[in-house]
Amino acid sequence: EESIRQYAARTPKSKEAYALAREYLAGGETRSIAYHRPYPLTVRRAEGCRLYDVDGNEYVDFLGNYTSLIHGHAHPEITKRIVEAVSVGTACPAGIEDQVELGRILCERVPGIERIRFCNSGTEATMFAVRAARAFKRRDGIIKMEGGYHGTADFAEFSIAPPVDPKVKRTVFEPVPESFGIPVNAGRDLFIAPFNDLDEVENILKKHHPEIAGIIVEPVLGALGVIPPAPGYLEGLRRLADTYDVLLIFDEVQTLRVHYGGAQSKYGVTPDLTAVAKIIGGGLPVGGIGGKAEVMSVFDPLKKEHLSQSGTFNGNRATMAAGIASMELLDRGAIDRLERLSERLEAGMVKAIADNAIPATVTRVGSLLNLHFTAEKPHDYQSVLNPHFDKLPLYHLEMLRRGYFLAVRGTWALSTVMSEKEIDGAVAAFGEVMEEMRP
Ligand code: PLP
Repeated sequence: EESIRQYAARTPKSKEAYALAREYLAGGETRSIAYHRPYPLTVRRAEGCRLYDVDGNEYVDFLGNYTSLIHGHAHPEITKRIVEAVSVGTACPAGIEDQVELGRILCERVPGIERIRFCNSGTEATMFAVRAARAFKRRDGIIKMEGGYHGTADFAEFSIAPPVDPKVKRTVFEPVPESFGIPVNAGRDLFIAPFNDLDEVENILKKHHPEIAGIIVEPVLGALGVIPPAPGYLEGLRRLADTYDVLLIFDEVQTLRVHYGGAQSKYGVTPDLTAVAKIIGGGLPVGGIGGKAEVMSVFDPLKKEHLSQSGTFNGNRATMAAGIASMELLDRGAIDRLERLSERLEAGMVKAIADNAIPATVTRVGSLLNLHFTAEKPHDYQSVLNPHFDKLPLYHLEMLRRGYFLAVRGTWALSTVMSEKEIDGAVAAFGEVMEEMRP
């Protein structure tokens, strides 16, 4: 409560702005995830890795619009390309060369992408990846991981944060809709397995493979808190997919940034379909469905029977130009530099946790990190649960008070415009918060 009082004292204009927002926007925001107590900030301006709210407070942005701004805000090169692009028309009812160029860049970098199609969000990307798998295999069943987040299409809104059955003290592996409004029937063809558990996937496949089209998985669980795959897990999924003749779909919407060729390059496992978004749009709305040429041929209009995928703003000029600039800037050197900064942040956080004897751990893959208030590193949904979630709001507000903007769920995403100065500042602030939270 003291934390909330201090937050309110620094942000009176954000409070007013939020009250006004509630007059017009349902729930005061258009992204449910952005809400936190007592009210979210209203940001007026952003530049590089810094945000400035309507009260004039400055924050170092370690969220980067939910991991999508890998080069920070208003990067001069990306802004220049966007301005050039919009000056010849924002969107076009026919093909444009930049769409092909961004496609070429991604096909050359990501092993599992031989052909790609664009859309406007990660939600659409995973939705169409799943649809492509169903069309290719002519089967409806999909295996999804418990705690896995694939956006907000009906199929994806199952078992993201399911209740734990108190009697058996384990989660319910039936597909559980995330809220009312999600048709229960949309989960009818879903099979849920815990992350990092190959046996459960094999059990499902043994029983149901003739009705299963594919397995969708984030190579690293993102929204749940940057949970890496156990050694051999992704290879195991590849093997099971081949053995039981189903497709393997990687949701690389968040993880593309962890390596020059995405998490699939880092771990050396090539999926049949890959959903991408976030960083490939250079800060503008984007999604992409990529895959092996044979599988992606389901979209080919030259085929009598094909899967239709359209969207008014698919492959629009502004997004394609920003995406090309973003990917060009993210060369191998930039990724190496991000890796070194992330290691430095991780080491600082781990030391602060140990110095204060907090039962917490840090998970990290590339430039994505997450603090967990758990004694051991979590490996699946169940191992992330309480007391982790109870402590996050206080941690989040205390970091915010010190000028560090993080996700409420504890995620840190670094950007290439950061330097050791921002990292060391963040470690110092983090150390203070850990001292405050000392048991
Ligand atoms: N898949 C993953 C792994 C994500 O992290 C997200 C967004 O956070 C999505 C899909 C959905 O992307 P979007 O928010 O662009 O719809």
